[in-house]
Amino acid sequence: MLRRLWRWREDRALARLHLEEHWDAIAASWPPAARYRGAARARLRDTALRFLLRKQFVPGADLELNDRMRMLVATMAAVPVLGLDLDWYRGWSSVVIYETAFVPDGEWEDEFGIVHAAHEPLSGEAWPQGPVILSWADILAAGGQEGYNVVIHEMAHKLDMLADGPNGAPPLHRDMSPAHWRRTFTAAWDRLHQAAEQNRPLPVDPYALEDSGEFFAVLSECFFEAPERLATSLPEVFAQLSAFYRQDPRSGSLRSVGTF
Ligand SMILES: [Zn+2]
Repeated sequence: MLRRLWRWREDRALARLHLEEHWDAIAASWPPAARYRGAARARLRDTALRFLLRKQFVPGADLELNDRMRMLVATMAAVPVLGLDLDWYRGWSSVVIYETAFVPDGEWEDEFGIVHAAHEPLSGEAWPQGPVILSWADILAAGGQEGYNVVIHEMAHKLDMLADGPNGAPPLHRDMSPAHWRRTFTAAWDRLHQAAEQNRPLPVDPYALEDSGEFFAVLSECFFEAPERLATSLPEVFAQLSAFYRQDPRSGSLRSVGTF
């Protein structure tokens, strides 16, 4: 009953949003969004608008954040959960956006209790149970041949963190095998690691080899931004990501469409 009431209130708030013109411009200009058609496209729009309602957007420093910017970030964030549902982004509420790469202040403690302090400028960051922080300049670098997308990267970390921290092992569906997932990603890691050691070109950003969490996040970026390339270079990884995200971004088709 409570959930139905909450949903009714969200539907009313949704009807009051007037962002259609931004939505059309974004869907036409960002190639991954343009792949979804018919019911999948309507679902992407709805998911993006609900993301806007459920998350608080906070401008970092002097950035002037407008509706079009919020809509672009929400649309990119909606893509990874399009075949899942928005509930996969539970447990956190804010998206902070800086104008350019930012140096995080303060220290953070990892799952092993080790305290880190970052001094390098970051394009994005996702805190466990905390905000997602993004650089607007890096968000605009998406949609190119590189398969780069900082929004999808940080959202993949959020999904990964739902089970045992950002370790490259998100909670899998019942019809998937954790052992098969591990074997597939370990074999791909070994292949890419060997290629990097021999100075051969990699099919994805070499940052993937930072650790298993970054491996999953970078491969997820490539899965959505350059799906044909990933399907050709790492077909087993592509199949596992397709089973996890419950969609095939090459055709924009969803495997199952449930309720939000
Ligand atoms: Zn990362």
